[in-house]
Amino acid sequence: MLRSRFFWKLYAGYALLVLLTVLTVGLLVGRRITADALADIERSLLVQAHLLSDIAAPALVSGNGHELQARVRMLGASIDTRLTVIAEDGVVLADSDEDPITMDNHGSRPEVLAVRTEGSATSTRFSRTVAANMMYVAVAVTANGELRGYARTALPLTLVQDKLAGLRTAVALGALIAVVVAMAVGLLVAGRVIAPLSSITAAAESIAGGDYQRRVGSTSTDEIGQLASAFNRMAGELEKRLQTITEDRSKLLTILGGMVEGVVAVDSERTVVHLNTAAGRILGVPAAESIGKPIWEVTRVVKVGEALDETLQEAKEATRELRLVSGAEDKIVELHTAPLQNAQGDLVGAVLVLHEVTELRRLETVRQDFVANVSHELKTPITAIRGLIDTVIEDRAMPNETKTRFLGKVQDQAMRLSLLVTDLLTLARLESADGLLQAEPLDMRDCVRGSLDRFTASADEQGIELVGDLPDTPVRIVGEYEALELVVNNLLDNALKYTPGGGHVWVRLDTDARSAILEVEDTGVGIPREHHARIFERFYRVDKARSRELEGTGLGLSIVKHICRTFGGSISVESDAGRGSTFRVQFPLSAI
Ligand code: ADP
Repeated sequence: MLRSRFFWKLYAGYALLVLLTVLTVGLLVGRRITADALADIERSLLVQAHLLSDIAAPALVSGNGHELQARVRMLGASIDTRLTVIAEDGVVLADSDEDPITMDNHGSRPEVLAVRTEGSATSTRFSRTVAANMMYVAVAVTANGELRGYARTALPLTLVQDKLAGLRTAVALGALIAVVVAMAVGLLVAGRVIAPLSSITAAAESIAGGDYQRRVGSTSTDEIGQLASAFNRMAGELEKRLQTITEDRSKLLTILGGMVEGVVAVDSERTVVHLNTAAGRILGVPAAESIGKPIWEVTRVVKVGEALDETLQEAKEATRELRLVSGAEDKIVELHTAPLQNAQGDLVGAVLVLHEVTELRRLETVRQDFVANVSHELKTPITAIRGLIDTVIEDRAMPNETKTRFLGKVQDQAMRLSLLVTDLLTLARLESADGLLQAEPLDMRDCVRGSLDRFTASADEQGIELVGDLPDTPVRIVGEYEALELVVNNLLDNALKYTPGGGHVWVRLDTDARSAILEVEDTGVGIPREHHARIFERFYRVDKARSRELEGTGLGLSIVKHICRTFGGSISVESDAGRGSTFRVQFPLSAI
């Protein structure tokens, strides 16, 4: 409190006021008391002078000065006042303090002169007789209406002044006590005013420092109490608003953090003010560390700078397609920039939205390739059929034998077309909606047995030993019987197609803790490692000519992969050129 400037301002003003008041009152009271005291002394001297006049009158008439002198001396000593009796001609007849014979004529004394005209008079002056400042009061002594002399009383002024000094000291002491009490009370009152103000200031400083829960404790209902409760209300409101802002901000950050699209915000100086996780992933930078850096430090792609130029200089949106080099594969990213405005509509920065379209572009390419492949695959047998039929029609002289051979070829091509269309329809059915496949509990051994039965004859024909190895207990999974049979058929068909006569094909079904495992192993031509990743793509063949020759459509393995994925399974291959192949399929076991 004592360090408060406001306290000292308030207190100094108050102290000045108290001092001025006490000084003025003291002066006025002092003066008044002095005047009253002088008047009292004068009055008492006057009364004494009248009494002296009564006592002196007979002596003045009779002329017995000796007796009068004795009496005056005695009276003067008893009342501590100088008494003088002066004859009408100015000769001093009696004096309480001096011998009248030694005293000069008092006829010209101012108080004696004044009595002649006014009846009584007062004079304050230096007495040569007693050598001191004195107050004199003189009255006329009359007998039978005639002036006979003068009776004079006097008091040394030092005595008067002593009396006054005592009174002044009392007044000054009173004033001093009043000042001390007033200052103490002022200190107390100022303290009471300052203390709540100091606690409001301390609370305001705490809030400014981040402690938004700080409040001022005040129970008074005066203006300061009202100020405290208004302050508390303001602090409460501030806390609520801040909480709302914090919640909104964390919501926004959660939304931005959960977005697939990358979002980057930069200010007008192009310093990154926000960069979400997705943006960090797309640009290949740590999101948290990028905030506060200039954008060119985060990404040096020229098109980003161009788009930002457009947005920040012309306040308009811009779009670019970026190719970001990262690792083995380039990323294709669609960039969209938009101006960032504050509440007043001023341009304060820009927002960059990054949308990775690599997969989209890849799928587009796959789709275009697929259409081209389908057209090509369909066109080849159709062209062959047309050519063969045209030849038969045009060559009327063609021998029947050749005609039959030609028609046989037409039949082969038609068969090929039919296989292709069947596979395409199967693929279309699988891709159109996964829900179209039934999901029912089944014993996978049934599908494997069905396929083994179907291919035993052709394996025999090719001179390949086909061996099935199935467990004794049911292998329960959830799926569609026909679809799962298609998986085993395709794998078995491939194994027999790509294995020369004299080879072996094993079909093994087994389980581990969680999965059903189907393995189809052959001793055939094998697949070089570099093709492993691609053989599951549509129309991908390791050796096109051989595949066609063997009536392959290039769609079998992609159908198998699709079905595996639909029922929560997976497929993998182990193979090498000339070393045979093993395809392994896994399906989750069903609980029932
Ligand atoms: P296709 O109808 O041509 O057999 P698939 O999609 O079934 O098409 O197989 C894709 C390619 O994978 C085949 O063209 C072939 O080159 C290779 N392939 C598949 N299975 C085997 C296997 N058991 N042995 C060797 N090569 C195989």
